[in-house]
Amino acid sequence: MSTIPETAREIAAAVRSGGVSAVDVAEHYLGRIAALDAHLGCFQDVRAETARSMAARIDALIARGEDPGPLAGVPVALKDNIMVAGAPATCGSRILENFISPYDATVTRRLTAAGAVLLGRTRCDEFAMGSSTEHCAFGVVRNPWDPEYVPGGSSGGSAAAVAAGLVPCALGSDTGGSIRQPAAFCGVTGLKPTGGRVSRWGLVSFAPSMDQIGPFTRDAADAALLLQVLAGEDPHDDTSAASEAPGGMDAIERPLDGLRIGIPQEHLSDNNDAAINAAVQNAADVYRSLGCDVSTVHLETTDLGVACYCVLGPAEASSNLARFDGIRYGRRAAGADADLEQTYSASRSEGLGMEVRRRIMLGTYVLSAGYYDAYYTRALKVRRLIHDEYARLFTQVDVILGPTVPSPPFRFGAHSDPLSMYLCDKYTVTANIAGTCGVAIPAGTTNVDGSSLPVSIQLQGPVLGEDTVLRAAHHFQIATAHHTAQPPLTAAT
Ligand code: GLN
Repeated sequence: MSTIPETAREIAAAVRSGGVSAVDVAEHYLGRIAALDAHLGCFQDVRAETARSMAARIDALIARGEDPGPLAGVPVALKDNIMVAGAPATCGSRILENFISPYDATVTRRLTAAGAVLLGRTRCDEFAMGSSTEHCAFGVVRNPWDPEYVPGGSSGGSAAAVAAGLVPCALGSDTGGSIRQPAAFCGVTGLKPTGGRVSRWGLVSFAPSMDQIGPFTRDAADAALLLQVLAGEDPHDDTSAASEAPGGMDAIERPLDGLRIGIPQEHLSDNNDAAINAAVQNAADVYRSLGCDVSTVHLETTDLGVACYCVLGPAEASSNLARFDGIRYGRRAAGADADLEQTYSASRSEGLGMEVRRRIMLGTYVLSAGYYDAYYTRALKVRRLIHDEYARLFTQVDVILGPTVPSPPFRFGAHSDPLSMYLCDKYTVTANIAGTCGVAIPAGTTNVDGSSLPVSIQLQGPVLGEDTVLRAAHHFQIATAHHTAQPPLTAAT
């Protein structure tokens, strides 16, 4: 039995008090990665030597009586679209196979300044486009609850790594659900902060009006700790918000008495898996017993979310990904030097996968002269409707409770039709469109063909409402034990 604590805050407390060394913590997790990751495939790249020297530096600071910070010695993994100076950042794409980050992302800098130890980078869908991590060009990530099932996506490697205990916490990015959906599939806590809460500097852009970086953790209290480290205005990202810092543990421990929780009727659709609707109802009972005022509300724009996202996301992506042209960034196809046109088209056809090409084509189409108003302008109007409905609802309730995803994890290859994959994001995309925040937390398991697979609920809050949603999540996790369930694969090791 290991003596290394499981949560980030316990690890940091033990390291700061000298109870355990940062080097021992790093070795423990590197050992788990060595034992389990050949099978799971969470990591694109493990930086063991760098991690060891970062940990040794933390121990040296402590030996000199200095405080390394709130994440002292806490191992963290980063999604492979977040830059770490001198390390590769492939974004799961062949086109960036040999790209080395020239600088640290702001989140990378904030983590290291807080004493964290970076273990490596985790696999994701190519350019964060997907819901299963099947679109990663470099290999499969398996769900620790059952390796025949996907871990969700696009931040599947980060979610599976936390679920399997390969790392106590990890970062992902969420443009339409890519933190919350894999958190749901892997049975961990995943927070999508408010748009602008965390700097995007050094995150490879997919759709910047919706992209947000956030943490995967074992529980809501760790998410609150990580958010305190990550959040803040950044001169490098002019969409980052100048706002009051999140309140951390003090804010989430406040009792829930009188908290107004609304369950949108549209989120309890008969098309959802029955276990998921049951989990939402059970959570409603837990919240009632904690003194909350739980009511049924409406989010009539729910069904517009995926359609709106499928115009805005590709439109922004097609323009952002234009920089990967075989000249300034990324690989150039061999012999593609005849003329500019051929260099672009051969390099991009060779370097970009099918899903990314689909989005670039869709985005180029909806932005083209004859179709701009019919698609892009119209989607912006729908965005306004979704935004305004959220804003109105948050005058009536403090938190929206519902499912994170309509169904439990699926098997590899189950969603070969892209549209059916996009519909997995039905309950998550609207928060990205509206710029609000949400957290996915484990809410039990369900039996699918003899496998026990995680079920998740989502708590959504208004702009800068992270303290409230994390407070609601934290009290749920005090009242129930769902977040402590471990996947069978790792319980035996
Ligand atoms: N699954 C969604 C997509 O395919 C969301 C991705 C994300 O949030 N990065 O675009």
